[in-house]
Amino acid sequence: MQNHLELLCDLSELNWIFNESQSIDLFLAKLVDMVAGHMQTTVCSLYLYEEEQRELRLKATHGLKAGAVGVVRMLEGQGLTGTALAEKRTIVAAKASLHPAYKFFGGLNEELYEAFMAVPILRGINKIGVIVLQREEEKPFSQAEVTVTQTIASQLANIIENVRLLGHIERRSDAVNISKPKIELALVHGQSASQGLVKGRALVLRRYQDLSEYLAEMPLKGLTLNDFHECVKKTEVQLEMIQSEVEAQLSDVASLIFSAHLLMLKDSSLLAKIETLIAQGSSPGAAIVETADFYISHFSRVEDHYIREKADDVRDLALRLLRNLSGPQDDLGDLGDKVVIADQLLPSDILKLSHEKILGIVLVSGGVTSHVALLARSLGIPLVIADEPQLLALDRNSFVLLDATIGNVYVNPAPSVIEIFTKKQQEVEIDEAEIAELTMTRDGEKVFLYSNINLLSDLKMANRYRAQGIGLYRSEIPFLVRSDFPSEAEQFLVYQRLAAGMPGKPLVFRTLDIGGDKVLSYYHHEKEENPFMGMRSIRFSLGHKDIFARQLRAVMRACAESDLRIMFPMVSSLEEFLEARQVLYDCQQELKAEGEKFCQAPKIGIMVEIPAVVDILDDLAGEADFFSIGTNDLIQYLLAVDRTNEKVASFYVPHHPAVLRTLKRIMQSASRHNVPVSICGEMASREIYLPFLLGIGVRNLSLDPVFLPRIKKACAAINLPEAKTVAQKLLRLSSIKEIEKLLG
Ligand code: PEP
Ligand code: MG
Repeated sequence: MQNHLELLCDLSELNWIFNESQSIDLFLAKLVDMVAGHMQTTVCSLYLYEEEQRELRLKATHGLKAGAVGVVRMLEGQGLTGTALAEKRTIVAAKASLHPAYKFFGGLNEELYEAFMAVPILRGINKIGVIVLQREEEKPFSQAEVTVTQTIASQLANIIENVRLLGHIERRSDAVNISKPKIELALVHGQSASQGLVKGRALVLRRYQDLSEYLAEMPLKGLTLNDFHECVKKTEVQLEMIQSEVEAQLSDVASLIFSAHLLMLKDSSLLAKIETLIAQGSSPGAAIVETADFYISHFSRVEDHYIREKADDVRDLALRLLRNLSGPQDDLGDLGDKVVIADQLLPSDILKLSHEKILGIVLVSGGVTSHVALLARSLGIPLVIADEPQLLALDRNSFVLLDATIGNVYVNPAPSVIEIFTKKQQEVEIDEAEIAELTMTRDGEKVFLYSNINLLSDLKMANRYRAQGIGLYRSEIPFLVRSDFPSEAEQFLVYQRLAAGMPGKPLVFRTLDIGGDKVLSYYHHEKEENPFMGMRSIRFSLGHKDIFARQLRAVMRACAESDLRIMFPMVSSLEEFLEARQVLYDCQQELKAEGEKFCQAPKIGIMVEIPAVVDILDDLAGEADFFSIGTNDLIQYLLAVDRTNEKVASFYVPHHPAVLRTLKRIMQSASRHNVPVSICGEMASREIYLPFLLGIGVRNLSLDPVFLPRIKKACAAINLPEAKTVAQKLLRLSSIKEIEKLLG
């Protein structure tokens, strides 16, 4: 039994292993080895169901002939394995060949193993496959082993369903093997950084790590100092133009990205260095490269985060200068139907590519800066990060399907894959006409769905999907993508646009929540040992009251006419709340004295994210105007699991009984004191938790706008009395497994 327990622990890491695996085959191979080892069986095989053909195909095996993988197949209902699937039941036999449903399959050597167990893998009503264990006759399978295998099957269902498309691909080319020549590359599994499904032609863009390599390819001969000056002028105009163009799209961050390039271009020491080299006989191109390399190597060696980022800025600017030096042609061409595959992208590249209307991006190695993922999401560009260098060797114009909902990249897929993919694409497309203004449960109870806003560009989707207001504005984002703390005036402009984005609707503004994984390169020079428990959020604001006051003044001025609600993140005590609120009151006194127009009576609330605060909610209820539950952090602190550490991801369980009961207690406190409460963490966007949340009385949810239609639809399917019963049942359960069973 000890082995079985270990196995279940390992299985809890399945999702993680899957996300880390280069290909599905490697994942499945690892899986069958792991199960066979733990269960002490000679054979563990995994068959996946192919719906169109109504047949099972052997996808991985430990113990049977390796050559059978991908080849052996059986119809649903055929043999013991096929019967287990057709009848959706586990079949156990001490001597398989005597079982009435037994069918002999040649070439597998399985006749050597008579003790047999087949467990169907099902997800809801969907048939996914069968897991088969076999060993010598002397050791028949026990009931305990059956139970463990059934648990494995249920855990596997979710993961395998995501990779069903693979079956179609492998009919054309054998298992994906990263060491095979590029032509074999059919499916690459990566991480989804920005959701979406697109299909188009591949365009490989390699960032030239070595600028001189780029130089060698450019026609830059016979150019003079004068050409360089012209090029600088052209680049300046170009950057200013891009800056103002993206200003309209991403007013809160874009201009800040380009301003770094512009500042460098205006830096006389950099220009003087290039001019001197040209005067000494270098060609303008070589002078640019030599100067840029000097700065890049200097910046790259520095530990400081912020300085290292400067190396990217220099490279980006140098490339732009070289391109402009080489003439008017743009080496990117027309990108309207392209999926860009790149080894490295800078924030400015993403903005540029977005202007050229590219369909999607696959980023290969080189790492992704948070700016890039963030910008891709806000610009609505599907982005997958896949550590597969072979993708960079793809022929120009290879056909690529990008499923950034699960992080898959399909290369030159078969028609059947395209067909399934197109169907999935259509399912994802939302009929906007169908999105109702109000959200109601099946029995007519109103639910209020608000939008989380990270970038101002999110407002568009939030409005399109009829959000009732802004339930969480993460005000730290503009602070992250820049080189210094923004002034009150700069913040005022951003917040003014925020308020204008949803006029007349509630706007919940969260004050600065930096620290943890949100590092300011211009402030966090020293690494904290435990940043999530360090100088985070409201602690930072209260420790830097000048910065805090600047933000509060800016938002109250910008939202003078709005239904403004200000909330403080990570509050842990009554004193902290009162101190923060006093800073706000002091700002109001100042603004009044200065004769400024400002929001006189914003509602002032707290985020419930630290477990300690749950026990003092009754006290806080007397002071705070509202509560907003940040489940992302609340779970992290309740369960002592770092939310950014993939290695402990399996311990991050939103449906842990302690989490469910804590949520219930928060709701009880809020209702006892009549304090409005909402949920703004990720739990609010998971359909599976919706019956529980509504069942314990939650009526206000704030979520990333992309999830609004789905949650709206899910609400409409819920009957409140039933949800209450489910919630009560869930609250009585003490094991995670039992809760999972009930959640379905
Ligand atoms: C949360 O913690 O649930 C939350 C909404 O805040 P963030 O994810 O920004 O920490
Ligand atoms: Mg939080």
